[in-house]
Amino acid sequence: MNENKRLPAVDRVLQQLSAAIEIYGRQLVTGCVRAELAAAREGLKHGLPLPEEAALLAAIRRRADDAGRANLRAVFNLTGTVLHTNLGRAQLAEEAIAAMVEAARSPCALEYDLASGGRGDRDDLVSGLLAELIAGGDPNVAATIVNNNAAAVLLTLNALAQGKEAVVSRGELVEIGGAFRIPDVMRRAQVKLHEIGTTNRTHAKDFQEAINAKTALLMKIHTSNYAVTGFTAAVDEKVIADIAHAAGLPFVIDLGSGTLCDFAAHGLPAEPTPQQALAAGADIVTFSGDKLLGGPQAGLIVGRKDLIAKIKKNPLKRALRVGKTTLAALEATLRLYRDPDRLAERLPTLRLLTRSVAEITALAERIQPAVQAVIGQQATVSVEACSSQIGSGALPVERLPSAALVIRPNFKKAGKFLLTVEAAFRSLPTPVIGYIRDDAYHLDLRCLEAKDEARFVEQLQYLKF
Ligand SMILES: *Cc1c(COP(=O)(O)O)cnc(C)c1O
Repeated sequence: MNENKRLPAVDRVLQQLSAAIEIYGRQLVTGCVRAELAAAREGLKHGLPLPEEAALLAAIRRRADDAGRANLRAVFNLTGTVLHTNLGRAQLAEEAIAAMVEAARSPCALEYDLASGGRGDRDDLVSGLLAELIAGGDPNVAATIVNNNAAAVLLTLNALAQGKEAVVSRGELVEIGGAFRIPDVMRRAQVKLHEIGTTNRTHAKDFQEAINAKTALLMKIHTSNYAVTGFTAAVDEKVIADIAHAAGLPFVIDLGSGTLCDFAAHGLPAEPTPQQALAAGADIVTFSGDKLLGGPQAGLIVGRKDLIAKIKKNPLKRALRVGKTTLAALEATLRLYRDPDRLAERLPTLRLLTRSVAEITALAERIQPAVQAVIGQQATVSVEACSSQIGSGALPVERLPSAALVIRPNFKKAGKFLLTVEAAFRSLPTPVIGYIRDDAYHLDLRCLEAKDEARFVEQLQYLKF
């Protein structure tokens, strides 16, 4: 008890923390003072010495910095996976960011028709643009936007097939990232999954024979995160569409990732597009906003106007709809697709995917000395060829040649050292996320853009391990 008296009073400590109070507010800093004093009191009880005043203040400031920092933090994604689901997928274009900020700051005509002064429909903000970009302006094509592609699939199935059957090939009963499994989504949508064919082969007659009085639709799901190779057979989309239409049924395609541009024209592996899906005869196509499209998290449902109207009437639509900032970013992103010549420059997802190995290697060579300097004698930092992947289920087997800074320990059994290096990079002011492979720590520089190079190098001085 006696010793407690020697600890300063909360108010006195607070007098020396005016800078921290200015930043974080009195309440947060007071909490940190109380917590540090309590820790010191506990220490005294166990025979530890009274902390120096400077050390006490430093500990309080550290605690305030920790508590005051946002939980959702920007990081450097050097994992080699461009669309990393755990790191927020697509980085938005500046045009999309500006539109989001504007929508957040001001009242906006979200559901207000400025021409008539009457009520508007939020889907109209992008429906026409999507019809223009995906279906050459076909007036019978419309769109509706929901929270993500999982929601798009759930809503489409419930609206078009509740209490009935949806026909899907056994080769396409996918699981995306653990929680999204087609059979489970079907059950939640109150749709009976009618599986046909086998894991490796499904034929046109399987679709034909599956159709009965309870069939509501035929469905194709893009196998986004795996490839079935060898003795395989899948039915062409045009053929499925013909079978569906002959029976008066809609054909739905869940595309997963949906780019609107021709990947091959950018030197990338070809990826199926919503344009191709509709041209092949799909009545509805669903895809994500934040995968290859390069926009905000959203689920896009595009297709036949009468089916879209039915989907929009479903009460789940209201529960799954998106807000104004999402629509602002989505509209701005879609507008970029009107100018294909400048798309690779303006859309970060495409810009990162199309970066040349030469450019990434040159960047790695520029940065290498700075990284070697902070790593010191324990490891050698070299520039090595590596391969990036697109991520988020697009083109699961394709790899993009890239370059990495590789930190290779100069001693054996360095597993613990590598974990320490990894943790040290993660603890930087802007955390750096790399990966350990083949007894070395890798930083794939594909997603470190030249504009962030100085910031990356500048913060290396804080690396501690
Ligand atoms: C990614 C994906 C989904 C889920 O999309 P989210 O936008 O993550 O909800 C559904 N189906 C397929 C085929 C996918 O690739």
